[in-house]
Amino acid sequence: MSISRHEHKAVGLLSGGLDSALACCVLKDQGIEVHAVYIAMPWGCGNETRAKRIAEDLAIPLKVIPLGDDYLPILTDPKFGFGSAHNPCVDCHIYMVKKAAEHMREIHGAFVFTGEVVGQRPMSQRRECLGWVERESGLEGRILRPLSASFLDPTIPENEGVVDRTRLPSINGRSRKAQYALAEKYGLKHFAQPGGGCLLTEKHFGERLGDVLGRGVSTIAETAVLGLGRYFRLSEDAFVILGRDQKENEGIIARALAEDWIIRPFSFPGPVALLRARDVSQEMLAKAAGLCQYFSKSREQAPRPVKAWRGSSVDQVQDVLPDLAGASGFLVSPGESSNSQKES
Ligand code: SF4
Repeated sequence: MSISRHEHKAVGLLSGGLDSALACCVLKDQGIEVHAVYIAMPWGCGNETRAKRIAEDLAIPLKVIPLGDDYLPILTDPKFGFGSAHNPCVDCHIYMVKKAAEHMREIHGAFVFTGEVVGQRPMSQRRECLGWVERESGLEGRILRPLSASFLDPTIPENEGVVDRTRLPSINGRSRKAQYALAEKYGLKHFAQPGGGCLLTEKHFGERLGDVLGRGVSTIAETAVLGLGRYFRLSEDAFVILGRDQKENEGIIARALAEDWIIRPFSFPGPVALLRARDVSQEMLAKAAGLCQYFSKSREQAPRPVKAWRGSSVDQVQDVLPDLAGASGFLVSPGESSNSQKES
């Protein structure tokens, strides 16, 4: 720990939700210079827009940290295991706290804090899990959970009198009554509602992600599009993501990698498809195009040409005739929800 640290400067994890915002408020109230970090995950439980708005409302500096490729081992083999789906919550918390600690060192802060509430969530906020996070992040005594401090051992900033433990709230369990009362007190309005969930906690997404990870992924960017649309595996080396509405169509195009193919109907309204494959043949493009037409109102019509281009070559557009019959062989895939058979 740097000896030049400022004891009254701390870094908090801000998610955009109420608890982490309140943690900032109660420490600010005690004269702590609060800085915040937001870890931007393509499919995580945070809300970047809300986090930015809260930081603005509270007049605190916010650093947005994009999820790095160093998160991949957590997705494939987390030390503390998965929750009920593909959610490695304990390892994920450790990762986030480590990122906050890096920022704490950069700004010569003295401790890290989070909005965790003891007993609120089944996995990551159990008492022993909080201890694992502390030990694994190398921040023993320097992670304060101000909303639940009275249920936990005093931290260094509390022992040194930097934070007055007796003035912190005493919240535990799943009820959110105390948090809403505090939100009222601090005039907090722009927080995300709880339950705006992390896709890793959803079974279908976990299956989809597991299917892709199991075949080898080397960057987080490769997983970003998986949170969108319908998912179809065409072969060992190829899959298609198909948008379900205009927003998803745009998101798919925005998250495409340079080597991905984008397939888009122009002569009829229908979904955008992203095809990711090691070797793309015309036959495969036609099947992906077939999925576009199958999930449109033109399903019963003769094949109608669509446009296709590579993410890296948007100026080289080609026409593709959908293979509707070929596409129909891929209508059930890992991570497909049961309501996915309707047209866009
Ligand atoms: S729900 Fe769990 S895995 Fe998902 S972002 Fe939150 S802590 Fe991480």
